[in-house]
Amino acid sequence: MTQQTDMTELHWLFDMLQHIDVGLVVINNNYEVELWNGFMENHSGVSSTSARQRSLFDIFPSINQNWLQQKLDTVLALRTPIYISWEQRPYLFPFKSYRAITSISELMFQNVVIRPINNANGTVNHLCLVVYDVTDVAVNKAALSAVNRKLDQLSKTDGLTDLHNRASLDRAIKLTFDAYIKGNSGPHSLVIVDIDHFKSVNDNYGHQTGDAVLQEMAKMLSSGSRRGDFVGRYGGEEFCILLLNTTQENAKIYCEKIRRQVEENVFKTSKGDLNITISLGCSELNQAHDSIEQWVESADQALYSAKDKGRNQTVVAD
Ligand code: GH3
Ligand code: MG
Ligand code: MG
Repeated sequence: MTQQTDMTELHWLFDMLQHIDVGLVVINNNYEVELWNGFMENHSGVSSTSARQRSLFDIFPSINQNWLQQKLDTVLALRTPIYISWEQRPYLFPFKSYRAITSISELMFQNVVIRPINNANGTVNHLCLVVYDVTDVAVNKAALSAVNRKLDQLSKTDGLTDLHNRASLDRAIKLTFDAYIKGNSGPHSLVIVDIDHFKSVNDNYGHQTGDAVLQEMAKMLSSGSRRGDFVGRYGGEEFCILLLNTTQENAKIYCEKIRRQVEENVFKTSKGDLNITISLGCSELNQAHDSIEQWVESADQALYSAKDKGRNQTVVAD
């Protein structure tokens, strides 16, 4: 009677393992499959009958054999389970994901536990691989970090021009100033660019045309700069460019190049072709600058004097 109950329970258990939504594989110490449940059949397309007695590496040639063999041998030798997380390695078995069509992967993300199976006499010559489908977790996490990246980016960029915004510029200027004060970087130059008579663009052609001019100007400043230059919109029709490792002589060459490009450019707008000029003030960070404000102020003063002298020119702070 007891034996019959045991048999019934065993039958139930076996039926549950066959249909559970978790992959179960038992292999021997030659890595040959001895048990292969329904989850494995459904996702691999390999039936339990044809999987049995075949090496795991023969069934899945894409598995990195050296890597997995090392893990399996460790579990056999130490008789202690090993956990493989999707964050280390997205999957062990290359199964298609039946969940939402994801942009991050078409394949199922998996957590895998490799467990030793103890024989009655305490020896271990079989292993069990338990495979969990964690695609939902992985997809949610990826979506969340994409949102965070986007938010992070939004907080640093100017909505109209996609350049760095004022806060982001201030941070970059502060970092540059601090590094210079500590004596481990330089020379650095700061350039402030202001569009000449921009108010009249708005007045004559409308605010939208003004916005379009700002956007095109931003593109010109970006493409005219090198990697490592920090280009931002300081506010209104004022831009700021931080030229790292650049002396004021070289900064002036850069300013004049940009100034000429803008002068020669035809801004094509829905209200017709426009010609625009800019004035630039430039200041190289030096020992006389006691604070960030003084450095920025000196570039600003140079800009004022460029305006004063008739606009469409560059002035370097003295
Ligand atoms: P100056 O040569 O002395 O720089 O003259 P200006 O007309 O460029 O200078 P002012 O500071 O008098 O005018 C700046 C104008 O920029 C006024 C404002 O309407 C315009 N402006 C500021 N921000 C924006 C914006 O986001 N979009 C548009 N279309 N215009 C803006
Ligand atoms: Mg201005
Ligand atoms: Mg202006």
